[in-house]
Amino acid sequence: MYLTEHFTLPEMTMSESAARLGIDNTPDAAALVNLHRLCTFLETVRQLVDKPVLVSSGYRSRALNSAIGGSPNSAHIQGLAADINVPGLTAAALAQRVADSPLMFDQLILEYDQWVHLGLSLSGERRQLLTIRKGTGYLPGLV
Ligand SMILES: [Zn+2]
Repeated sequence: MYLTEHFTLPEMTMSESAARLGIDNTPDAAALVNLHRLCTFLETVRQLVDKPVLVSSGYRSRALNSAIGGSPNSAHIQGLAADINVPGLTAAALAQRVADSPLMFDQLILEYDQWVHLGLSLSGERRQLLTIRKGTGYLPGLV
């Protein structure tokens, strides 16, 4: 099932951890609505970089999120965040491209120089930029 032209529901809910641990990762109706909005946003990222956007983690049920040590307030739980990569761009370059664009998002986190977390909000986008590396915790900006 495609949520938008290029993003499928399985892609947004697939989790190796959920499969391995036998955790149900089926979104409820509210999360589905949010996932649709998230995928619509990801289409704009795809247009920005003119390349496919690969999602490594999208929706996480509360059980899955706690099993993998995610933040209890993670936007992934609401279906409002995706961890992404774009082939041919480093995570840092992708983060910079999105940060330099006019796209509206709540949170962009460059995580361990490996992927970019993009989160949306139900209550107004902050366009917050953060970087996290091993041992640093969250640092303001893209550094
Ligand atoms: Zn994330």
